[in-house]
Amino acid sequence: MTIQNMILQTPYLTLGEEFYNETKSDPLEEPYLISFNPQAAKLIELDENSATDPLLVSLLNGTFIPKGASPFAMAYAGHQFGHYNPWLGDGRAINLGTLNAWNLQTKGSGETLYSRSADGRAAIRSSIREYLMSESMFHLGIATTRALAIIGSKTKIIRNKIENAAVVMRMSPSWVRFGTFEYFYYNREYDKLHALAEYVIEESFAHLQADDDRLLKMFCEVVDKTATLIAQWQGIGFNHGVMNTDNMSIAGLTIDYGPFAMMDDFNFGYICNCSDIVGRYSYAEQPNVAYWNLTMLAKALSPIISKDKMDKKLEEYGASLYPNAYIKVMCTKLGLKKRLDSDAELVEELVIALHDAFVDYTLFFRTLSHYDGNRENLYDIAMNPVVVDKWLALYDKRVTLEESSYEERREMMLQENPKYVLKNHMLQEAIVLAEDGDFSKVEELLYIATHPYDELPEFEHFAGDTPEEYKNIGLSCSS
Ligand code: AMP
Ligand code: MG
Repeated sequence: MTIQNMILQTPYLTLGEEFYNETKSDPLEEPYLISFNPQAAKLIELDENSATDPLLVSLLNGTFIPKGASPFAMAYAGHQFGHYNPWLGDGRAINLGTLNAWNLQTKGSGETLYSRSADGRAAIRSSIREYLMSESMFHLGIATTRALAIIGSKTKIIRNKIENAAVVMRMSPSWVRFGTFEYFYYNREYDKLHALAEYVIEESFAHLQADDDRLLKMFCEVVDKTATLIAQWQGIGFNHGVMNTDNMSIAGLTIDYGPFAMMDDFNFGYICNCSDIVGRYSYAEQPNVAYWNLTMLAKALSPIISKDKMDKKLEEYGASLYPNAYIKVMCTKLGLKKRLDSDAELVEELVIALHDAFVDYTLFFRTLSHYDGNRENLYDIAMNPVVVDKWLALYDKRVTLEESSYEERREMMLQENPKYVLKNHMLQEAIVLAEDGDFSKVEELLYIATHPYDELPEFEHFAGDTPEEYKNIGLSCSS
């Protein structure tokens, strides 16, 4: 399919006017293509050579509107850093409609009804980060939104400095957030709340549609998916940075990439968002905050779903769902197929050891994947090898209960422990060049993002320890 032939649908608009505001894009000046993602194009059956179609830039810039599309911004609310904000919504994202079950959205397209005092724009830097990281997360096996392409422009915006504006076209199976439900709950519009729940079931939980108990089951599945997602974030060393309820996907996806970071040296309390003074959204807090966000969702759903039954499910999150999902992720990273009661302690000891060792999180697991009893390589990557040594003694004992050979474990672990993740210093390098009109590193990182488990000799320099001056730096929320 060519861009010209795309035909979109807008089922969200059938929900009624309270759910959205019809909004036109405010086009960027002198737009140009920065990158096109053929893998995302495949998902919507768009020709892979659409990169050279002049309509691509127009599509992102809002000057070409596909057939059936009807641009709109979605209304939602949310708890931001624990405080309820009744008026959020897509302040800079414009939805075009749905194609092949993917909801297309341009981010940075100008002011909407929900922009409040902000400009509706997105900086090149944050757009590149979202574009690349969502692709990386997908290839790491983590549920996420995707991105089709990104354009830059001559339009100036003011952030910490004057920057050029960009637009990224994002795609998601759903853009509904916990905060979308909160919006109708706090407005006491319970019939709308119900309609939204039915919409979400149709969009993201279609297998429940004929079930009399579908509302409760939907909530239970959101809890399950959230537990799995957060366990995967912890396992891969991802810190989201802004887990407000408006940034929590009802479909259990990683959404709204802002000041995120992949951990460099492992630091349990790492805070990637430098405006998060108390660490509400630190790496360590992510499982707890997800729980808190789920309790806010349960509150919002209480007019239409039994509160007692939701509370029972919420209890499960802390008692078993999250801990089990996390242990499963970590044991897989350790090449352990069996589940023993003692594994929780092994993982806890590992987290303590990694924290004390000053060791690169990704590099540690990749190196451990090759561990055959010789500890030298693991000593070499840790600033404090003594704690690694102590933990390896526990690990050595544990693997004897596995009945797997070192080679079998290695094969399994190399599929679970990536060689390449997109660390902030890598993204930063690509951004600096892109701001100067050189997009070669963006393409390079897109390639790396799509091959996280492969040995890529030409990119070996990205597989090592992060240079000291770039380790675990804080990122600004301004984007
Ligand atoms: P975030 O936490 O970055 O996902 O954004 C929180 C809220 O602020 C959302 O409603 C966004 O749409 C809105 N927002 C963020 N940046 C801008 C901007 N530059 N212009 C308009 N709205 C924005
Ligand atoms: Mg957001």
